[in-house]
Amino acid sequence: MDKNTRICIVGGGPAGLSAGMYLEKKGYNNYTILERLDRVGGKCWSPTYNGRRYEMGAIMGVPSYYAVHDVEEFCGITHDGPKLNRNYKNGQGKVIEPFEPKKNILKIPRLLKMKKQLKRFGELLETKYKGYDLNGHRGVAEGRYEGFSAASAKRQPVSGENPNLKDLALPFKKFCEINGVDLVQDIWIGPFTSFGYGYFDEIPAAYVLKYLDFQTCMNFVKINLWTWKNGTQYIWEQLNDHLAHPARLNSKIDKVERKDGKVYVTVNGKVEEYDKIIVTAPLYIPNKRKDGQVGMVDYFDAREDERALFSKIDYERYDVLACETKPEDHPEISYYVFDNMVPERLGHLMVYYRRWRDTKDQVITTYSLRKHKDSKEIPYDKCRSMVLEDLKVMNNPASKVVNEWSVYYFPHVFSEDYAAGWYDKVEAMQGKYDTFYAGEIMSFGDMDETAEYSRELVERFF
Ligand SMILES: Cc1cc2nc3c(=O)[nH]c(=O)nc-3n(C[C@H](O)[C@H](O)[C@H](O)COP(=O)(O)OP(=O)(O)OC[C@H]3O[C@@H](n4cnc5c(N)ncnc54)[C@H](O)[C@@H]3O)c2cc1C
Repeated sequence: MDKNTRICIVGGGPAGLSAGMYLEKKGYNNYTILERLDRVGGKCWSPTYNGRRYEMGAIMGVPSYYAVHDVEEFCGITHDGPKLNRNYKNGQGKVIEPFEPKKNILKIPRLLKMKKQLKRFGELLETKYKGYDLNGHRGVAEGRYEGFSAASAKRQPVSGENPNLKDLALPFKKFCEINGVDLVQDIWIGPFTSFGYGYFDEIPAAYVLKYLDFQTCMNFVKINLWTWKNGTQYIWEQLNDHLAHPARLNSKIDKVERKDGKVYVTVNGKVEEYDKIIVTAPLYIPNKRKDGQVGMVDYFDAREDERALFSKIDYERYDVLACETKPEDHPEISYYVFDNMVPERLGHLMVYYRRWRDTKDQVITTYSLRKHKDSKEIPYDKCRSMVLEDLKVMNNPASKVVNEWSVYYFPHVFSEDYAAGWYDKVEAMQGKYDTFYAGEIMSFGDMDETAEYSRELVERFF
């Protein structure tokens, strides 16, 4: 492609900003990033409270966050945040240590079985499911793998046939059952369901394992994690500052028309002309949202194939509250509440996070899910009250809510559409209308998978 191609990037979150970075690295200097809000970072939102930044969105990374590492290198920054620590409570607020055999004498046989299954699971993923951990979902539903190896920072291109990969379309619960490793769900659930990515009986294994590949999951187990002192938003603010063309904030896109090999974007009432457009913003939102966020199909001249495919996308209702507590009620540490990570306890507090351990004058943040594929969505206000009640049960009551957010989170498709080749159909449309699709839906809803997908998109098409 001509290096002077005029490229419009919709969205100034990790996917959009890193698309700009990788384009620039490849010699494309005619790109424009349009961001609808007055800040960059998207779901990496780190406001300030009592002089320190806390996290309303993304919190952490792991050492295999290669694309995030590229960004750090590009900007000369590093992961310099507080060390994460955590403990566990049951639904009644009692501290438990579910993985400690000495504290769970009766559970020893189950724990031993789990350990065995974990070993077996690691082996299965390496052998039977070879190719499972590549970024994106190309070929998976057809029993192929195609992408760039995450085994090293060099990311060599790899591809091959592996019919077993078709199993990844199954809900993760089913996937574990057919492989005789159902107990590993006890380990995977912590960094999955409580992080808002849905329940194992509804979410295809592909999403679970592309994010929580074996190595990444073990990094969570060992708390081998990265955080950033000034918050994850800082990573993307820094990247924005280092780009030749920083994002244009407060850009309201009214209309996008694609005709005669050109892309016409109406921004804040004025028409701009581009050659190509990369969409990292939501493609489809099935309901009306209070924050005014809409899907691409609502402001683009969306074609029939785009509408048909994108209408299959659903997303999670994941709520975050930032709460003050009295010093005597401040938690010692962050807590996971496994009892509340099941669909029957929809809307309850699943995890709460204490970020700064040297002070009690900072907020804690709470996390809850209020939608499951097969049940009615719990209204926002009801869920909010349930979470505040749960904090009392946990003996860490909130004295005030200082910030709250129910964000468009983790877009995905369900097993049937995944198995029917949703991803290969969308991948085949890349570039078709001078349009490229990136962002969370194309890989997975975390900082690294989205940034990495942008890297691969640039590598493949530009
Ligand atoms: C509570 C929470 C906790 C999380 N924890 C982690 C974590 O610990 N680790 C991790 O790696 N990830 C975490 N994530 C996920 C991570 O933040 C996201 O996956 C990542 O930010 C996705 O990047 P993105 O650019 O694809 O989308 P987004 O971050 O959503 O960015 C999209 C951008 O597009 C903009 N936009 C939308 N519509 C338009 C439009 N019409 N025109 C112009 N701009 C538009 C949005 O304003 C936004 O800035 C968490 C997210 C949340 C909410």
